Amino acid sequence: MARIPQHFAGTPLGNAFEQLSARRIAQARDTAVTAHDLALACDDAEVAAWAALALAQADYQDAAFASSIRRALDVQARAEALDDPRLGVEAALALGSGFWRIGDTETALSVIEKELDKAFRLGDRELLAAVHRVLGVSLSEIGGHVAGVQTLERAFGFALESGASRAICECANSLGTAIFASCRTADPETKADALANAEAMIRTSLDVANEAGDLPAIAAAESSLGAVIIERGDWVEGRLWAARALDKTRASGDLLSEGYALVSLAVCDRELGALDAALSSLEQAYAIGAAQAAKPLLRVGYDTLVLGVGSESNDFNVPGVAAHTINIDTPQQAERFHRRLLAASVRADARKGAGGEGVVEIVIIGAGATGVELAAEIRQTTRTHATYGLDHLDPRRDIRITVIEAAGRILPPLPERIAIAATQLLEALSVSVHVGERVVEVTDDAVETASGRRFPADLVVWAAGIRAPSWLARIGLATNRANQVVVHQTLQSTVDPDVFALGDCAACPWPAHGENAIVPPRAQVAYQQSSLLVKTVRARLAGKPLPLFRFRDYGSLVSLGEHSAVGTLMGRLIGGSLLVQGLIARWMYASLYKMHQIALHGVVRVALDTIGRFLSGGVEPRVKLH
Ligand SMILES: Cc1cc2nc3c(=O)[nH]c(=O)nc-3n(C[C@H](O)[C@H](O)[C@H](O)COP(=O)(O)OP(=O)(O)OC[C@H]3O[C@@H](n4cnc5c(N)ncnc54)[C@H](O)[C@@H]3O)c2cc1C
Repeated sequence: MARIPQHFAGTPLGNAFEQLSARRIAQARDTAVTAHDLALACDDAEVAAWAALALAQADYQDAAFASSIRRALDVQARAEALDDPRLGVEAALALGSGFWRIGDTETALSVIEKELDKAFRLGDRELLAAVHRVLGVSLSEIGGHVAGVQTLERAFGFALESGASRAICECANSLGTAIFASCRTADPETKADALANAEAMIRTSLDVANEAGDLPAIAAAESSLGAVIIERGDWVEGRLWAARALDKTRASGDLLSEGYALVSLAVCDRELGALDAALSSLEQAYAIGAAQAAKPLLRVGYDTLVLGVGSESNDFNVPGVAAHTINIDTPQQAERFHRRLLAASVRADARKGAGGEGVVEIVIIGAGATGVELAAEIRQTTRTHATYGLDHLDPRRDIRITVIEAAGRILPPLPERIAIAATQLLEALSVSVHVGERVVEVTDDAVETASGRRFPADLVVWAAGIRAPSWLARIGLATNRANQVVVHQTLQSTVDPDVFALGDCAACPWPAHGENAIVPPRAQVAYQQSSLLVKTVRARLAGKPLPLFRFRDYGSLVSLGEHSAVGTLMGRLIGGSLLVQGLIARWMYASLYKMHQIALHGVVRVALDTIGRFLSGGVEPRVKLH
């Protein structure tokens, strides 16, 4: 339920949100449509935008997540146009919740994280509780149980401060559920403790809901209580709570909760030997899910399909990675890392200023080009911190950067001489490099490796490899262990000749490098493959044979700070590969970057941007302190 501005109370829009809160979804939808149409007729963009939010929430409650996402995106755009931060946060909440429900938890997290600052600025405890609740639930879902529970504890704290009974019920319920999810694989003693804590939290939710006479919240708490009791193996009592919750959710038309209650019932019936009843509950739950959740956002037919969906970080199922490490695949993740680095440095500086120990331990897992470049870049950045007041820290001694690599050397896919040169440059930057160390667990304060070593860590970056999105493995194409679509040299899928894949999401043969070799996931490859596909599509239309992809490796450059880089150049002119390093390599790196920008944005924009940066370089801070 959105925490709507006071002046909507008593209006059709206010009524729509009240009906949503009472889970009278069909009624809420009608009222919101009326409010929306009236607002449009009166040119009231604000009311129309909030009414659109009510419709997004109604869709969510009806488990029509695709439609809810579409509406929430529209509300976000309206909030921006209206410059309405509260509406913007509410839209992000609806959007994040929708993405979470369709299984895209990463997007859910990033959508909500982007709005955190705005929510804090608004200062509304109920809103903060809602934002932290969705964040916590998402974190818990992706396996970050500790972080999830901690975030939900914060949500519960904000809810208590707000005094809003619905917020208290929802946060207590989510916290209990997250505690319960975190203990599933724990040893029996820990699990019994956690289940008791979870039950206590959910009973708190139920008590508050009963006191407030809040039927939807009572149903949600009863459903969660059933799930905890079922986990304890008490099928009879668990069934009782699930059946109670089912009655209430059916009465209120809350499809989502109805689905959960049905699944709980089915589990109990199966264990109690009532297989027909279990099957019937599951069929009903499936019908709710299949009819609603799987509706696509947009359906586009094709004759030829090109998949170029890139890749994401691969955690290789190492415990603790999701909860305790940061990736830097996207600008949002890089921003998050930047904020956390700065916060850790400020804290360490303050500790040291007060006469204590002030050290920041940064561990980068994976010494591919990304990990190595990041190590050098962080060293560069932290050197500049002193200029901005963090002058108690000695950047070289107090900001410790450790790179851990499982292979026998850094930069495994690149020639060995580059690795040797890069190792020397990293050592010169006081970056400690550990090769042959396979990370087996990441905790909240350390990284542990298979050899039994433990590296203390305040900040951990995971840069240990990539995989293609997991859904690629579920659409009937042949994929490898990294979910990449297996393609022929024509870039056609080995299963369906109408489907092509390129870039990081494709496993394309590289015969020049061996029988089973595939081309590396690099920008050069994606670029060359995209050029080839232009010819391919023309050839297909003309009914001609398709060209084959042959990767031409022009070499690699790895940046190592402001004044250095190392790499190889390859080409027919120089008859093989040439090692370049130092300022020349750095200059080449910068030129390559500019060429890349020109390819994307054109010469004029890049020239203007370069001049602008040159002029502002002398006055702008080198490090962003916000
Ligand atoms: C931090 C970092 C630094 C790098 N540095 C270098 C470097 O210096 N040199 C180098 O050669 N390579 C580098 N790479 C690797 C390089 O970026 C990739 O190899 C290259 O971008 C792959 O191109 P692509 O088109 O396959 O995928 P991408 O460039 O990732 O493009 C895929 C696109 O598909 C979109 N997408 C994903 N899923 C969906 C979906 N379901 N529906 C619709 N759209 C979707 C994504 O949003 C994205 O825009 C780096 C990568 C990272 C993360």
